[in-house]
Amino acid sequence: PLRKKVMAAPFLRDTVALFLSGSNVRCEFEFPDSLWPLEIDVGQVQKVIRQLIMNAQEAMPEGGFILIRAENATVAAEEVPSLKEGPYIRISFHDHGVGIPQEYQRKVFDPYFTTKPAENVKGTGLGLAICYSIIKKHDGYMSLSSKVGVGTTFTIYLPAHF
Ligand code: ADP
Ligand code: MG
Repeated sequence: PLRKKVMAAPFLRDTVALFLSGSNVRCEFEFPDSLWPLEIDVGQVQKVIRQLIMNAQEAMPEGGFILIRAENATVAAEEVPSLKEGPYIRISFHDHGVGIPQEYQRKVFDPYFTTKPAENVKGTGLGLAICYSIIKKHDGYMSLSSKVGVGTTFTIYLPAHF
């Protein structure tokens, strides 16, 4: 895999801008410029960000905004499932869309799990499964929390590389 060292803050801002043009959804950023560097396959991680933004847009058909937060996070042993201890960047994507019912929350990362109608070409159910495997390949971790009628937050951890 072709990994490149990138500064996390401009990488996030530029990637989101790339996928937002022409959308009725806005993004708000909450992170310091002092985020640690990442070493990533840029195209693959951009795919993850694009998918999370697309899902949030589809969950907010009337428009709205996505809050993207990021911070440097030193993870202790056993603190986060399947992550080794060490320095990470934690990035979260909050929307205030339809939300995900509790009984689906375990399934959304499964390939082909979708609640979108079959005639919707976007509804393949592969988006989050692909995100999950990309983040996994980067030795990161991805999870979600959601409440119907309130919104959804996807959180990803990516290892920092100095
Ligand atoms: P697809 O978007 O093709 O349905 P995904 O793997 O991207 O497949 O998402 C799977 C399912 O998870 C979606 O069909 C939807 O039910 C749910 N989902 C994903 N992201 C969100 C979100 N931000 N808000 C509400 N539901 C979501
Ligand atoms: Mg999707």
